Amino acid sequence: MKWLYASLEFIAVLFVAGCIIFSKKKSKGAPIEKYTARLLYVTAAAVAARGSIFLIPEKMTASLMYTVYVCLIDAAVLMLLDFTREYTVTRPLFEKEKLCFTAAMLVDCALMMINPFTGIVMEFGIRQGGFYRIINIDLPYIVHIVYVLAVFTLVMIAFFSKMNSSPVVYKIRYALPAVTLCVLIASRGLWLNFRYAFDFSLLICAAAVFEIMFFSQIYIPGALLERLLFFTLANMKDGVIFIDVDGKCIYSNKNADQYCGDELDADSMNDLIRYWLTNNIPEHALEAEWCSNRRVNGEMHSYVIDYKSIFDTNSEYLGSFFILHDTTDENRRLSVEKYRATHDSLTGIFNKEYFYETARVMIDSAPSGTYYIMCTDVKNFKIVNDVFGTETGDRLLMKLANILGSVADEHCTFGRLTADRFALCIPAELFDEERILNEFSEISAFTKHVFFKIHIHIGVYRVLDTSLRVSVMCDRANLAIKTIKDSYQNVVAYYDSTLRDSYIEEQKVISEFESALNGGQFHAYIQPQIFTNGTILGGEALVRWIHPQDGMIPPYKFIGILEQTGLISQLDSYMWEQACIRLKKWYDMGLRDNYISVNISQKDFYLLDVYKEITSLVIKYGIPPKCLHLEITETAIMDNPGAQLPLIQKLRDFGFLVEIDDFGSGYSSLNTLKDMRADILKIDMGFLSKTENKERSEFILRMIISMAKGLDMEVLTEGVETRYQVDMLTQYGCDVFQGYYFAKPMPINEFEDKYLNAYIPL
Ligand code: C2E
Ligand code: CA
Ligand code: CA
Repeated sequence: MKWLYASLEFIAVLFVAGCIIFSKKKSKGAPIEKYTARLLYVTAAAVAARGSIFLIPEKMTASLMYTVYVCLIDAAVLMLLDFTREYTVTRPLFEKEKLCFTAAMLVDCALMMINPFTGIVMEFGIRQGGFYRIINIDLPYIVHIVYVLAVFTLVMIAFFSKMNSSPVVYKIRYALPAVTLCVLIASRGLWLNFRYAFDFSLLICAAAVFEIMFFSQIYIPGALLERLLFFTLANMKDGVIFIDVDGKCIYSNKNADQYCGDELDADSMNDLIRYWLTNNIPEHALEAEWCSNRRVNGEMHSYVIDYKSIFDTNSEYLGSFFILHDTTDENRRLSVEKYRATHDSLTGIFNKEYFYETARVMIDSAPSGTYYIMCTDVKNFKIVNDVFGTETGDRLLMKLANILGSVADEHCTFGRLTADRFALCIPAELFDEERILNEFSEISAFTKHVFFKIHIHIGVYRVLDTSLRVSVMCDRANLAIKTIKDSYQNVVAYYDSTLRDSYIEEQKVISEFESALNGGQFHAYIQPQIFTNGTILGGEALVRWIHPQDGMIPPYKFIGILEQTGLISQLDSYMWEQACIRLKKWYDMGLRDNYISVNISQKDFYLLDVYKEITSLVIKYGIPPKCLHLEITETAIMDNPGAQLPLIQKLRDFGFLVEIDDFGSGYSSLNTLKDMRADILKIDMGFLSKTENKERSEFILRMIISMAKGLDMEVLTEGVETRYQVDMLTQYGCDVFQGYYFAKPMPINEFEDKYLNAYIPL
């Protein structure tokens, strides 16, 4: 008999073990699985312990094993509590609850542990069947009963309250385990009361374990699932239509019905499906996708329609479904996004990137055609912003975008490149300079300010090399704008390749300048100046760039660029210092009447404190200021006479001799003479050679010289190239000559050797 009982218990263990393995396979790592697993392990161990007692022939060992069994049952009960909380998602009743149960369990275990030696809880003996079992139970067993019943009560409360508050489809999840646990408790009560030889409650325990595992990990109510799926389908944003094997609609949700039309009837739906099956789905195709536009609720909508066939596990065709995805909002959003990414937010015309893209497409689409890339620049746009405010600046830009729009037609593309720069790509045959200037002419009065007119500078690149990137084409058009410089008109300038070369040269000068200056590549040359009595006391310092690779670079190749970029002041300061060093040397040699004449660029007055710079140099080298002649062009003076005239007077008061350089090349020469007190007037011979009427020119020259004399100025003529000029100028009263007739500019050492204080008979 005992073998039968033991086998039955071990079958129960195997059953629980099966549940453990199955549960492990299903496991997805949720907390409930952890609690289920613990409960299953401990229960399996308890049932195994109980089964082994049937086979133990010795009283003490059987009693000890019973202790193990009860302790495991106690632990399982505690785990059942943890499991129930997780399963029913209920909170503990009070905080110390588990502590109390743990304490009760420990007391029960302690009692059971001393029981084999004392027999205070229960007594073992052999009745029928030939195995040890309980023959008598004492009062302390009540601890075990109270502990187990208390936990079970809590568990039941949790199950029943959850069952009460759950929708019908969920109730079974809580009802069945609760009922089984009740049966389990009842069976244990029966067993305890009648002391059956075989503890059948453990089999019920195994059944409860299976149920717990099943409901916590496997069971999902079918009705619930069905209802959820139906609900999802019915409320899906997409329209859904199912058709059967004959192509008849068996289900369509609300959105699908809307697609088909408000006066929907079964026929119209089936007609539509038939139309799709014949027109949009290739024969025998199992899936397909297409787009469709349809008026729904009076508004045009775009749809993407998906078709798929459904098969059962035996590959038998069951029907098909259509999913109707409304892409109207998506398309709208995409087109807004695309607009934002391709258009300038202020003017609404294309932005730089999109202009490049569209111009590229245009140029590529007609490889044999000729295009112009035209860029525009607002002269002094910064001033518009600063003086009239950015709002006016913005309005101006919008106006320009409008004008460009009227210049361009559907064969052109245009956009805004940066702040005030716009670009247009236009077929050559449509490009009409006069018309474009005409369109832009209205902008000049934009600010409505009498003195402040808006001027547009336009650069044009004729696209000869279509392989160039459009951005490079725009660079070229912009390069052409640079040549317009300070013009106060609307002007169009065209790009040609020399422009590019000069741009490249310009960049080379700018990039190499500083290292060339620090590396001593700039040298001061001197061109002698000869008095009418044939003596040479000094000359003009002229810079020469001796480049290690390119050889000697004449000033006209870099002075203008350095002036534009503001680098000139560094070069001039350097040249002034070189002159002072040389004058100091001469002074120390006792040559006190000699001088060097240096150039002061117009830009120096803006970039430097010229007075401070020059006076500190002569103080530093301890030379008399009269040895340094300062050449200032009349344009530099008349550019800002209010500031220049007092400055020049200050320099003269300090002791410098000031020369008006290039006199005659400017347009306000007489004005300059009237207002300015200088020591030397330096007449530019160049202006005479340009005039056709020699006699009149010479007359003017004579008048200028006599005027200068009348104003107490010394007269120096530069650019003297012929004997005739020397004679004529001498006759008119010129005091000093400088020119190739006597000598070209030369290194200072050579000047010192050959000319300084030399005598050249005229
Ligand atoms: P500039 O100040 O008018 O200098 C006179 C220029 O005329 C020099 O040219 C000189 O070589 C040239 N010249 C002298 N005699 C004759 C002649 O008989 N016939 C002809 N055709 N030309 C003659 P360079 O040295 O090439 O300098 C050109 C310009 O570069 C100068 O004109 C000056 O404006 C500027 N420059 C030269 N050195 C400096 C400098 O250190 N600082 C600044 N700011 N400008 C300088
Ligand atoms: Ca000069
Ligand atoms: Ca000059």
